[in-house]
Amino acid sequence: MSRKRLRIIITAGATREPLDPVRFISNYATGTFGCQLASEAQARGHQVILIHAQLESLKPKGLPAIAVRTAAELQSALAAKFSWCDCLIMSAAVGDFRVRRVARKKIKRGRSKELTLRLEQNPDILAGLGRKKGKRVLVGFALETENLKNNARHKLNQKNLDLIVATSMKSRSYPFGSSRMDGLIIAREGRARNFKQAPKKRLARILLDSVEKIVLS
Ligand code: C5P
Repeated sequence: MSRKRLRIIITAGATREPLDPVRFISNYATGTFGCQLASEAQARGHQVILIHAQLESLKPKGLPAIAVRTAAELQSALAAKFSWCDCLIMSAAVGDFRVRRVARKKIKRGRSKELTLRLEQNPDILAGLGRKKGKRVLVGFALETENLKNNARHKLNQKNLDLIVATSMKSRSYPFGSSRMDGLIIAREGRARNFKQAPKKRLARILLDSVEKIVLS
């Protein structure tokens, strides 16, 4: 059976929110899974754009890629490309907060032993796109320390997603940068598949199978 060639945007990596010209707030995401998804989608003949923040893994060769740094840059890049795609897989680890006022010069150690940073929330990019998804397939991720299934299902509904990949931070597995992970793939209509120490490459295939099935249904 020949498959429909889809236009897929995959976001990957960790956004960075600057404090001053030399420092930032970020997270431990490496972009491994997003890059594997992009390779698998490309190998299947889909048209893929990778929008990536900071990556610690190798970017797949020969793919159109857009580099972003902050959540705001990621939001702008997505705003420019979203209408093009049939599917968005939002695997980027987006920082939930940014510094309210970024210092123009390097923050110096002062006489005070403390430094207070005022943070403000970044917009929930995926939830915003979920409100105007049309027929597009949206896939989100959830990293949870407790109530994995319930929290992930809540996010799936709240962000108007078709699929969500939920990963537990509690189990013995450390998801960042590892080639395997524990977790669940939950579909909108309620199906949930559990995975224990599954290779991310296999999960990428399963996730793309699910996306293709939704598009064909
Ligand atoms: O709500 P939570 O941050 O757990 O949701 C994770 C999902 O939402 C991921 O797919 C992530 O890429 C996306 N996200 C987003 N904008 C944010 C935070 C997360 O699009 N500010």
